[in-house]
Amino acid sequence: MKKYNISIIKGDGIGPEIVDEAIKVLDAVSYSCGFSLEYKEYLMGGIAIDVTGDPLPEETVTGVLNSDACLFGAIGGEKWDTLPRDKRPETGLLKFREAMEVYANLRPAIIYDELVNASTLKPEVIEGVDIMIVRELIGGIYFGQPRENDGFKAFNTMVYTKPEIERIGKQAFELAMKRDKRVCSVDKANVLEVSQLWRDTMEEIAKDYPEVELSHMYVDNAAMQLVRNPKQFDVIVTGNIFGDILSDTASMVVGSIGLLPSASTGDKTAIYEPIHGSAPDIAGQGIANPIATIESAGMMLRYSLGEIEAADKIDAAIKKALKDGYRTGDLAAYDAKEVVSTAEMGDVIANNIK
Ligand code: NAD
Repeated sequence: MKKYNISIIKGDGIGPEIVDEAIKVLDAVSYSCGFSLEYKEYLMGGIAIDVTGDPLPEETVTGVLNSDACLFGAIGGEKWDTLPRDKRPETGLLKFREAMEVYANLRPAIIYDELVNASTLKPEVIEGVDIMIVRELIGGIYFGQPRENDGFKAFNTMVYTKPEIERIGKQAFELAMKRDKRVCSVDKANVLEVSQLWRDTMEEIAKDYPEVELSHMYVDNAAMQLVRNPKQFDVIVTGNIFGDILSDTASMVVGSIGLLPSASTGDKTAIYEPIHGSAPDIAGQGIANPIATIESAGMMLRYSLGEIEAADKIDAAIKKALKDGYRTGDLAAYDAKEVVSTAEMGDVIANNIK
């Protein structure tokens, strides 16, 4: 029987509640598909500060690097907000991503037919939307040097090297090969030199993927097109800052923040996590929506472990739960037949797999 080592970081707030439900579903699907998952838990964020005094203990870094993949909940909360910046949970998270060298952030935006009314966009605009945004995560203007703010003048530097563009570009084309074989590269090549290099490099990569259709779009137009006609996109690949903004836009196309999973991948390991935070306002009440985390676990099976059948089963089980009218509180207003708790939603999805 195939066995995988999974590192688990539950984190703070609703983190432990939603990760427990994802583990419940992973156990059901691994049993049903005939492989086994061994979990090892590590600390990060506020809980790590409380226990060890450090938001990112060294043991977490080495433990995750030695695992096949990492499932992560969320970190942060008011309790730690007054600490100096370098001691805060969020600093631990940024350092964690850097240490893991996860340069590609994958954010799918898929609309569930049962929840078309949860979006602020018209149902006919969003029905059938299935977009994968591939955002470069550890380069670009957020990391470029020099950077300065002297109180009179402030600047940052948007820099990409060709190898950095090549590795994210290849990820996007590989993903497109498994999907609808279309890549839209988003840049600002009419104004920025760095975008021209980005565009030229994407054209070069495209020569290795003759089946994939490559198009280019300026970021301002892409923002508009995502809201006007999101169905036109398959894979979108873009740099750090443009991807940050566009992926949030795309998330609202879908409706609830509690539905959106993500993967941060690199050559060493991959981290799978919901896009939302630790939601301290609802923590401990058993009302958080675990679907984004369960979907993240599904992405882990698909992209890190290659267990495609198991990932498909998770997708189908979530769709069935929604089709049968089960909703957590955040989606209670949208055709709910039964409003369920976090744990009950996990049970329903796990039972659908069994
Ligand atoms: P948030 O995403 O935690 O919450 C925003 C709103 O969405 C809240 O009203 C919350 O109740 C709701 N929400 C979030 N997830 C939900 C779910 N699964 N089900 C139902 N409702 C859900 O963002 P925030 O309030 O700005 O931040 C709270 C804390 O989380 C802060 O400390 C912040 O730094 C941290 N944070 C962590 C991460 C991460 O760990 N990756 C990401 C973003 C924010």
